[in-house]
Amino acid sequence: MKKGCAICERLALWRQGSNTDVVREFNQSVLVIGMNQHFRGYALLLLKRHVREPHQLPPKARRELFEELMRSADAVWRCFKPWKLNYACYGNAVPHMHWHIIPRKVKGPPPWLVREFREAKPASEAHRTRLARRLRRFM
Ligand SMILES: [Zn+2]
Repeated sequence: MKKGCAICERLALWRQGSNTDVVREFNQSVLVIGMNQHFRGYALLLLKRHVREPHQLPPKARRELFEELMRSADAVWRCFKPWKLNYACYGNAVPHMHWHIIPRKVKGPPPWLVREFREAKPASEAHRTRLARRLRRFM
């Protein structure tokens, strides 16, 4: 855990049992429901260790993480039935590797160009808990 890292702190809360957005734990990562639900079913795959870049992981961890990403994407796909999934791994704002899995219902610009997505208020905890429970059934 790196002090001051928002993702390390979120994972620490989960380990203490107080993060209801968690869908599933894998060997390398944890799948959570996104705070922002402008795109319904938006989920994030958080690496459990504090590493910034995918290439910095040992080869076995890379392979496991990719499989976990695909299993998560498959569950989001079957649960929310999007037209397309968008994937993103930036780490510009929070330098702890995490993958955005964004279900899109219709053709449109990339998520970061959608003002309603950028400016959306966080979904309620109750709503996120319901979505996490629903997605868990597809894992
Ligand atoms: Zn971190």
